[in-house]
Amino acid sequence: MAYISNEVMNEIRNKTDIVDVISKYVNLTKKGKNYFGVCPFHDDHSPSMSVSPEKQIYTCFSCGASGNVFTFVADFEKISFTEAVRLLGEKVGINIGTNISVSNKKDEYFDIYSTANKFYQNSLFTNLGKNAIEYLDKRHIDKDTIKKFGIGLSIQKVSLTEYLINKKYSIDKLVDVGLTNENGHDIFINRIMFPIYDLSGNPVAFSGRIYNTKDTAKYVNTKETDKFKKGKILYNYHIAKEYLKKNDSVIIMEGQMDVIRASTVGIDNCIATMGTALTREHKSIIRNMANNVILCFDGDAAGEKATISAIELLEDTGVNIKIVRLPDNLDPDEYILKNGKDSFLAQINNAGNLIDYKMEILKKNKDFGNIKDISSYVNSALKELINEKDNIIVELNLKKLSDNFNIDYETIKDKYNKLIKNKKEVVRDIKPKKTYNKYGMAENYLIYYMLKNEKVLNMVENRVGYFPDKNIRELSNEIIYYFHKYGIINVADFISYISDREEILRTLRDIIAMGIKEDFQIEEIEDYIFVINEYHKEVRVNNLNKKLKEEKDPLKQAEISMEIMKIRGGSRNGIRN
Ligand SMILES: [Zn+2]
Repeated sequence: MAYISNEVMNEIRNKTDIVDVISKYVNLTKKGKNYFGVCPFHDDHSPSMSVSPEKQIYTCFSCGASGNVFTFVADFEKISFTEAVRLLGEKVGINIGTNISVSNKKDEYFDIYSTANKFYQNSLFTNLGKNAIEYLDKRHIDKDTIKKFGIGLSIQKVSLTEYLINKKYSIDKLVDVGLTNENGHDIFINRIMFPIYDLSGNPVAFSGRIYNTKDTAKYVNTKETDKFKKGKILYNYHIAKEYLKKNDSVIIMEGQMDVIRASTVGIDNCIATMGTALTREHKSIIRNMANNVILCFDGDAAGEKATISAIELLEDTGVNIKIVRLPDNLDPDEYILKNGKDSFLAQINNAGNLIDYKMEILKKNKDFGNIKDISSYVNSALKELINEKDNIIVELNLKKLSDNFNIDYETIKDKYNKLIKNKKEVVRDIKPKKTYNKYGMAENYLIYYMLKNEKVLNMVENRVGYFPDKNIRELSNEIIYYFHKYGIINVADFISYISDREEILRTLRDIIAMGIKEDFQIEEIEDYIFVINEYHKEVRVNNLNKKLKEEKDPLKQAEISMEIMKIRGGSRNGIRN
């Protein structure tokens, strides 16, 4: 790894608040001194991750994820530690340069796409773009909206490929990133260009729409590349997430035009899939965006199907799901154009509850003149209700079922109770926590408190000769070294310091994830040191015992026994061996 000085890393970390950064990815709620959120690093259903503004670290008590702001961004974005430092550095105006251990391939990709993005945007406002502007105007997309979503234009007469080759990009590279075809021509010709951004806000693909020709393909998207995977990208994520703090709810739509249209009437917390069903990757992104999710898919049958599968996917995340079903097969874009802002806002504000929606869906294709259908409906409705956690909603629905179908309330309630009883508790899959013996525990506590307290550090330095575990030993040496060099120590900076030492960083992150209590008495530290030194005595006694067994000379046997007794007899305060 190329060298970034510790001072620079610490300066970036000091200027960056971990709570601000993590809350861009995960919805955080303050409880006491710390913030809590659903952990993005395991399949978390309740907020297991805590973020400490004081210590500037995060900890998941379920899966053991922990670290400082750099490790969080690195792990979440799946980039290297150095790239995370660089990314966060840029945000606070500290440039650590681009030649530092960042693969050129990735950077070039982003460079090409942002160059292409600007090229298309400029083209739209040339003379050749007049028709396209007129078209957009007719569709009520004004200049502000064009700017906000970076809408551009690809023109046959002006080749993007040539432009980029003049910028010294290779033709192979342009084919590789999906902007140029095998014959060396632009992929996008005479289309209105919608840039698609990754989760960090880098343009990584385009969606091009026809506007003045008849073409079988209304939209053409960039092919999938290593930076553009439809299953991992949500349209408008990078803008929508800025609006989530205000209302803690995200609206999911089917198409980019829906999102853009919603924005024109002031609704900015919308995202869209790129023409695919929601994936497991989408699920973990969405779960971390907001506590409330509104599904607002197209009003047609396909939209209904998409709604049902989105519910199935998101249901176990613990987010509160609401559903909007637009009338007359309209999609959100069409609905807003036809009925206006207020009507659409009313649809969003009156979004239906999940359970109501399910009850409605179950009614499909049922003939309520038929007793069999009634019974089948009531049974499947009860099966849905046993998954509902809110007792009041359950109660209201049981009453409704009783009233609507003229069934005795007690009968319904009985059946519900039976189903609840039979419902098997689903056991969650959590990695078993690492277990430690008493020596391991003592080592972990000592390391943790060394990073917190100078006195502990000195005690360890002077009185613990040697930690049994190799990683702990190295960790302790690094802590001592760091302290003597900088005269101060804290966990968050120390994590940066050992970021290129994979094994000992892992060890430290495991220790942080143990959730060790903050307060300690000096007597406890004495105890841990005692335990560690006991370990060495045990090892020596074991070795002597082995020797004793092999020794034939009674005199030497006696000598060894004496030595063993001496070691065993060492008093607690006199241990410095
Ligand atoms: Zn976790």
